[in-house]
Amino acid sequence: MRHLYLHVPFCPTICPYCDFHVLRRTKGAVVAYLERLEKEAARLFELHPESLDTIYVGGGTPSFLRDAELERLFAALPWQVDERAEITLEVNPGTVNRRRLETIKNLGVNRLSIGVQSFDDNTLRFLGRTHDAATARRTVKEALDLGFSVSLDLMLALPGQNVRAELETAAALGAGHVSAYTLQIEPGTPFALRRLAAEADDEAAAFALARKILGAAGLRRYEVSNYARPGAESRHNLAYWRMNSWGGLGPAAAAHFLTGEERVVSRRTTNPPLPRWLAGEPPESVELGPLDYAKEVLMMGLRTREGIDLRKLEEHSGLELRRTLAEKVGELADGGLLRLDENRIAPTDAGLDRLHEAILQLWETLETAYSADFS
Ligand code: SF4
Repeated sequence: MRHLYLHVPFCPTICPYCDFHVLRRTKGAVVAYLERLEKEAARLFELHPESLDTIYVGGGTPSFLRDAELERLFAALPWQVDERAEITLEVNPGTVNRRRLETIKNLGVNRLSIGVQSFDDNTLRFLGRTHDAATARRTVKEALDLGFSVSLDLMLALPGQNVRAELETAAALGAGHVSAYTLQIEPGTPFALRRLAAEADDEAAAFALARKILGAAGLRRYEVSNYARPGAESRHNLAYWRMNSWGGLGPAAAAHFLTGEERVVSRRTTNPPLPRWLAGEPPESVELGPLDYAKEVLMMGLRTREGIDLRKLEEHSGLELRRTLAEKVGELADGGLLRLDENRIAPTDAGLDRLHEAILQLWETLETAYSADFS
């Protein structure tokens, strides 16, 4: 286990589109959370004492924790971290100022994922965000000034949004990494109750513009929604997409463990939500069989431009994937969605835009070939 995710569930307000496991802070809740986190970290360390290459503190809004709480959170992690470890903290503009950013830097954090979402005040109001555009710009500038590696979250294709202006502002600020998403309307959220719906055509146009404007600024699309300067890709998120092992701490945190040498065993664990997690309930654990493991690797790996090594996946799953998928992969390559390079398959730009379609076809082929063996 060389990667660690840590979930901080507290937010100043709850955005109307959010379906993450989040809550407002109440008296005593953060102290109880930190006490439980200390115990959970000590237990995970006993099982996985390896040094860490990446730590990602996400949420929620980790930067909503006070200085002393953040200090206690980092002090709860007994792992050694590599000299060049990537240590990311999610920050929302409006919860930090320059002094707080310095404190965060002194804790060893070297990468900030800043939840900007938009550089337009009307759009920010529509999203129910607590910060304004000037604060977002100032936070990004201060973070860069202090030497953080900076990633911006942007939400695109929103009603009435000037997507070009958003992307040009992001590019001009000089962040090395941008995560550009479209709004997902999740069931049960206030946005879903208002029957808001995203327009597929607007989304495609926004992604095309993102590729052009961010690409011109030297940020290459390396995953469906992520753009980076060379070397600024998120190593932590790449560990997810490569289906490496990572640990998870905090309520509702997910983890993944690979064991075995040639044939691997893949196990996903998910912590319970806050009240049950505070009571010490252990995570739910699901072991993926060879077919489900292969499907998961295809789905995650093909999100990235690097794609996946089918020969390696064959060894790990014990399935004859190259033979089984050869015809379908050929069809998808002829249709311009996949690239083939010896044993590696990877999505083209069109493939990244139509990933769902490509993955469903590969899954169907695998299920037809193997479902009798694994049902
Ligand atoms: S800040 Fe992020 S995690 Fe918190 S409520 Fe808004 S979308 Fe959800």
